Amino acid sequence: MTIDNIKEEIEKANSIAILTHESPDGDAIGCALALYLALKKINKNADVIIPEYSRVYSFLPGTSEIKKEGKSEPYDLAISVDVSTIKRLNGFASYFEDAKVRIQIDHHQANDMFADYNFVNPVSPACAQNLILVIEKLGVDIDKDIGTCLLTGIITDTGGFKYEGVSAETFEFASELLTKGVNISDIYKRVLQIKTRANFELRKLIIDRMEFVNNNKVTFTYITLEDQKNALAEEGDHEGLVEVGRDIEGVEVSIFLRETEEGYKASLRSNYYVNVSDVCVAFNGGGHIKAAGCTIKAPLEEAKKMIIDEVNKYIK
Ligand code: 5GP
Ligand code: MN
Repeated sequence: MTIDNIKEEIEKANSIAILTHESPDGDAIGCALALYLALKKINKNADVIIPEYSRVYSFLPGTSEIKKEGKSEPYDLAISVDVSTIKRLNGFASYFEDAKVRIQIDHHQANDMFADYNFVNPVSPACAQNLILVIEKLGVDIDKDIGTCLLTGIITDTGGFKYEGVSAETFEFASELLTKGVNISDIYKRVLQIKTRANFELRKLIIDRMEFVNNNKVTFTYITLEDQKNALAEEGDHEGLVEVGRDIEGVEVSIFLRETEEGYKASLRSNYYVNVSDVCVAFNGGGHIKAAGCTIKAPLEEAKKMIIDEVNKYIK
């Protein structure tokens, strides 16, 4: 079984790199750190390589040990967590590709199966829920610190236990983590409730610009690089903005475009029947059925038309 191979490869490796996707969310960074802390407990000193992350997550145990760059010589083993395609490792794919053995642990519906060992279960509402199985397999006791990282992943990716993927197992894991002393209320407040001032300023803009199309079943809004500069936005300050459109009565798909140096980063959310991962795959992106993304290299008006036209194909 894959999980047995993963255990074996981890035990064999002398140098390990842990990687996750660009603009890491709570599940991405939570999994990377949980795995790092777990490996440390079995005397495996891994490098957890994350070039940039939102300061929202700086309360997580292990953040002070995050490296911006890895070693120049190839690692024995590279493990990616919460990554659906090697393209999302951004400029860091070489640490993965050059490693002697490659493992990925993930939960995305559209996954390229890009590793030697792919531990991918799209039924899990968070990658953290899959990672728990790996950590248990390694025989590591999940302590308060590891549990805090894992629960952060579960809380972020389930929107605070409210998305459909949440199962009895999710609550069983959460309950187990609480017995380790993990402070669920503090995590919830930090990652879902408190917004940065820049996020609030950007929220005002996207609400003001919200357009309703296709009989009000689709919302569209955006922010430019200049908006982000004016709001003094930092990494992660756009998180949650796409949910504003999604949460309006009658809306099936919410589209949010954020200008980056590479083009317009699209975030899509759906409520009931549209598979937004399929929409994003058409633009070389992907994600989950009800939460997905892609990058469109075109000016705003063009990008807007392209993404709305694609979404409209799925609206009933
Ligand atoms: P978000 O809208 O929060 O950035 O992303 C929603 C989901 O879609 C996440 O699970 C994320 O991993 C996935 N996703 C976002 N952007 C991309 C992309 O460019 N390519 C792929 N394959 N997945 C993406
Ligand atoms: Mn995730």
